[in-house]
Amino acid sequence: MPRTADHKILLAESEMPTRWYNVLHDLPTPPPPVLHPGTGQPVGPEDLAPLFPMDLILQEVSQDQYVEIPGEVLDVYRLWRPSPLFRAHRLEKALGTPARIYYKYEGVSPAGSHKPNTAVPQAFYNKQAGISKLTTETGAGQWGTALAFACSQYDLECEVWQVRASYDQKPYRRIMIETFGGVVHPSPSDLTEAGRSILAQDPNSTGSLGIAISEAVEVAAQRGDTNYALGSVLNHVLLHQTVIGEEALLQLAMVGETPDLLVGCTGGGSNFGGLAFPFLREKWAGRMSPVVRAVEPSSCPSLTQGTYAYDFGDTLGMTPLMKMHTLGHDFIPDPIHAGGLRYHGMSPLISHLYETGEIEAIAKKQSECFAAGVLFARTEGIIPAPEPTHALAAAIEEAHRCTETGEEKVILTALCGHGHLDLAAYDAYLRGEITDHSWDDADLQAAVAAALTRLPSLA
Ligand SMILES: *Cc1c(COP(=O)(O)O)cnc(C)c1O
Repeated sequence: MPRTADHKILLAESEMPTRWYNVLHDLPTPPPPVLHPGTGQPVGPEDLAPLFPMDLILQEVSQDQYVEIPGEVLDVYRLWRPSPLFRAHRLEKALGTPARIYYKYEGVSPAGSHKPNTAVPQAFYNKQAGISKLTTETGAGQWGTALAFACSQYDLECEVWQVRASYDQKPYRRIMIETFGGVVHPSPSDLTEAGRSILAQDPNSTGSLGIAISEAVEVAAQRGDTNYALGSVLNHVLLHQTVIGEEALLQLAMVGETPDLLVGCTGGGSNFGGLAFPFLREKWAGRMSPVVRAVEPSSCPSLTQGTYAYDFGDTLGMTPLMKMHTLGHDFIPDPIHAGGLRYHGMSPLISHLYETGEIEAIAKKQSECFAAGVLFARTEGIIPAPEPTHALAAAIEEAHRCTETGEEKVILTALCGHGHLDLAAYDAYLRGEITDHSWDDADLQAAVAAALTRLPSLA
């Protein structure tokens, strides 16, 4: 029964969800605890207190099914939320597919991505706790931009360590961060022990997210008035991002649709989790049965080729140990254009769901992703960020399968950011200068195994 949803499906401001959904409440089995690297024991709130405010620490371990979104956060969300859900009529037509493709567009936010959904509440709870400055890391700059914007809303200082390669090659997001009032340092920097130790080994290091995290954590841990904010991976980040999926559920209901397939790109897992978790809740309650598929770059394949093990979240080993799919904490991925997907680990929640068979994962090469991004731009009129082109490539792959089988599947994805500051990547693609990279599995397994032997032994 074909339906004809309008191109744009909008919620009224008054229909915006007022609570985040906590997937921990409904998980069929609980995920393994986060461990203290010194003692090998589960970390307690006091271990995290030097870095995070208590409200966020409690959200990190909360078992409540829902968390109310504070009014002061909803007020800022209203600058761009509810975000639109689109039916990709023109893409479907170009593909000649019977599938119906929907995308939830998060590029309408101040940073042009989903990241302000968590940056805003993180800044809010820190302000409430009397903190005056937040430090963080950023790769291509999306997270730094989001946090600088959020800090500007609550009158907090914001100090950002940006991966050197991006700092040099992509000045525009640095300028956005500075415009929102943030201060940016290239990482590795000589401002921290962590940065100096990397520079001593390699003065020309182009950096990595793991190194930049070490620098930002070091500064926050040393100062009472300064905390640290992470843009992905942690439970509370994925919690905040569920506003995406809650809105999408309401929007699909408005046009009488239930999804057969959810696809999302995964770097640390936050936009994917944010979209998928409310739908998983519905699935576990027996109200729908979508397949949920994560898509990662073949050059940084933490789910499809990584090991499920305890590892550090950063390169220097300053964070607690998290059980996650990892490529090893000292993994430095190929400099692909999807900067937001170049992280060695995967959110413990997403890793656990993958391990327990609740979600699937596939890896895609860059050239296929850019081809999908260009087709999407030419049909739907939005130039996607390189990260969500991975999800689009997977959505298109499924739509082609539907063409062969005649199935009218409903496919939902998060178009988690626009690519207006990634045009150099599109330029490279259009000139035929994109190279594909994937790992020989044996080489990668050996490297991961070696990295994991450098961990403290766990009792
Ligand atoms: C940061 C970012 C990502 C990767 O982070 P997740 O936590 O996996 O969502 C993906 N897409 C965009 C546009 C980003 O800014």
